[in-house]
Amino acid sequence: MNTVDYLRISLIDRCNFRCQYCMPEGAELDYILRQELLTNEELLRLLKEVFIPVGFSKFRLTGGEPLLRPGVVELVRDIASLPQTQDLAMTTNAYLLAGMAENLYNAGLRRVNISLDSLHPETFDKITGSRGRSRWQQTWEGIQAAYHAGFDPLKLNVVVIPGINEGEVLDLAALTIERHWHVRFIEFMPIGNAELFGERAWVPSEELRQSIREHWGLSAANVRGNGPADVFQIPGALGTLGFISQMSECFCDRCNRMRLSADGWLRPCLLNENGQIDLKKAIRLGIDTADLREQVRELLLIKPEINFKQRDSGTQGTYTRTMSQIGG
Ligand code: SAM
Ligand code: SF4
Repeated sequence: MNTVDYLRISLIDRCNFRCQYCMPEGAELDYILRQELLTNEELLRLLKEVFIPVGFSKFRLTGGEPLLRPGVVELVRDIASLPQTQDLAMTTNAYLLAGMAENLYNAGLRRVNISLDSLHPETFDKITGSRGRSRWQQTWEGIQAAYHAGFDPLKLNVVVIPGINEGEVLDLAALTIERHWHVRFIEFMPIGNAELFGERAWVPSEELRQSIREHWGLSAANVRGNGPADVFQIPGALGTLGFISQMSECFCDRCNRMRLSADGWLRPCLLNENGQIDLKKAIRLGIDTADLREQVRELLLIKPEINFKQRDSGTQGTYTRTMSQIGG
């Protein structure tokens, strides 16, 4: 059985972007009320008394947009300074990163994954739902700031959308030739708004690899991180290319993670809500953390049966929660 030691922690379900595949403009999302968010103290207590004792040691802060969470730098410092934390990373859209990268690095964050779906401001704004002033430049400055602050590896996440940014795959892959960056192409998942992109909703990773192979050649890189990406390299490039193919290949068998939502629900699987535990309610009711450890251990035992392939009932078609709500 796979060791499950990686917890993705959503800090907030709100976002300053409106990516079409995540929080489309006009979608009615029920935001978590501020008093329903886990506080920093509750989160740290859960880490120290529940997650770390049952074996979690790798943490990723995500959202929504984690940089919108008040006190995020202090929270990073507190989690990074726990002696059992082996790895602390963040997934962000980088819009606020230029002013925060150095403080986050100094607080102990070492890895960031940044979403960047396009190198063209117009396409970027279309995907991220920007109105008025373009957001591309400030995002690019956030990426540069992260690079200069010393984040390594710097990973860029690209959700490939047919007909919108699939034509940029070579340009995005080229970013890895002279930079020690990792560009990861993600197959679009039919969460929340599956109909959005019509019948051909996602582009299989193998199609992308084929076009890169034809252009430069492509070799498998001998790297495996915490995640589900298959890693390749353009011959001679400094960086790597990752492919996250949850639609064309099922990687449930190597899943090493669970998710904690911003309001304290522990989910064993992104697309399957079976077995989830309301940890915020439990600690606010004063339930002993020894009992919570037991509940999490039991959930770990049944996790292999709760997976992407066997989604919970009622979610056979479109999944109604978006990534921003689950904690992507
Ligand atoms: N706001 C941050 C960001 O965008 O990086 C963190 C949260 S976001 C939900 C985390 C990741 O989920 C991003 O890389 C985003 O592109 C990805 N994502 C969101 N909705 C998705 C979908 N329907 N299919 C595939 N990836 C998705
Ligand atoms: Fe916000 Fe990230 Fe979702 Fe885009 S993908 S709307 S940046 S949470």
